[in-house]
Amino acid sequence: MTTLPEETLASDSESVVDRDVVVVGGGAAGLSAAVFLARYGLETLVLARGQSAIHQCAHIENYLGFPGGVSPERFVALGRAQAEHEGATVEEDLVEVVEPHDEGFAVETQDGRDLVTQYVLVASAYDGDYLDPFGDDLDTDDEHGFVATDAGRTSVDGLYAAGWLTEDTVHQVVVNAGDGARAAVALARDDLTDRYWPEVGELYVDWVVDDDRYGGEDWHENFDDWFDREIRPGAPALDEDALLAAREDMKTAFLDRGIEEAERERRDREGQRRLLEQLDDDVVREYARSLPATEEDEIRR
Ligand SMILES: Cc1cc2nc3c(=O)[nH]c(=O)nc-3n(C[C@H](O)[C@H](O)[C@H](O)COP(=O)(O)OP(=O)(O)OC[C@H]3O[C@@H](n4cnc5c(N)ncnc54)[C@H](O)[C@@H]3O)c2cc1C
Repeated sequence: MTTLPEETLASDSESVVDRDVVVVGGGAAGLSAAVFLARYGLETLVLARGQSAIHQCAHIENYLGFPGGVSPERFVALGRAQAEHEGATVEEDLVEVVEPHDEGFAVETQDGRDLVTQYVLVASAYDGDYLDPFGDDLDTDDEHGFVATDAGRTSVDGLYAAGWLTEDTVHQVVVNAGDGARAAVALARDDLTDRYWPEVGELYVDWVVDDDRYGGEDWHENFDDWFDREIRPGAPALDEDALLAAREDMKTAFLDRGIEEAERERRDREGQRRLLEQLDDDVVREYARSLPATEEDEIRR
């Protein structure tokens, strides 16, 4: 289920909320969270500046999917490109204060940003001083100051945390990227719970599947039966129309996950092209020169 919220606080011109979610930190945890949050459909702003762990790595050789390893700079550039491709905004700025606000949180930065946001997801590795306004409301590990989390949720409603900054992690890039994803999924589930009810929130996963997986004639009937049996019992006292509308929303969210074969091929090609954009031109040229000529090349010669 992706891109479910069609209307969010930030998209409502009457609301004082500037962004649905501000992510503090643009390392593995923050950027991975931003990918999920933007895909879910929230207006997502990542702010990143200052001390980071990832830039202390000389070369990342244990992140799955990079057979020869990857430099931390390229890894962050790839993550940023992906978060932006999914619709997040990534800006260089240092968050100095996060504090409670009637509509969620107020965020102040070194460059003079003064934002109101519904949610905050913190992933700034070492520097958590900007969270001081929460005082004892924010549970931390007293010894090291790590933020205490449960699947990315903190003790403050609407505030999520991921990566090195939290006590519940292992200090490795691949794990911290997973932490960001986990915290973002928790946030999306909580947001869906507020919009519907908890059983609906728990349905949230970010999957893309072949379009014939969902949507057949039997599927619609089975979906309705399953919804009425498993999901509906948790619903608050809604009238029948509201329940049917919720069921249709859920159905649409499942159907939206499906892509056709041609789209699958297009995405695979586009994905490869986007990877190439992040490689050094001289490496790409050198590799291209090493390829055997195709028939088309021979004709051109
Ligand atoms: C010396 C060293 C070598 C390492 N080598 C490896 C390795 O080879 N392989 C491996 O898997 N792991 C390695 N690690 C661990 C790895 O670097 C971390 O686990 C990982 O980078 C943490 O990810 P993160 O997203 O939580 O934090 P980071 O990647 O550190 O990201 C933190 C982000 O927050 C930003 N930030 C900080 N404060 C603020 C603020 N107030 N406002 C806005 N933005 C802020 C930073 O600029 C940065 O963008 C190494 C760590 C160290 C210290």
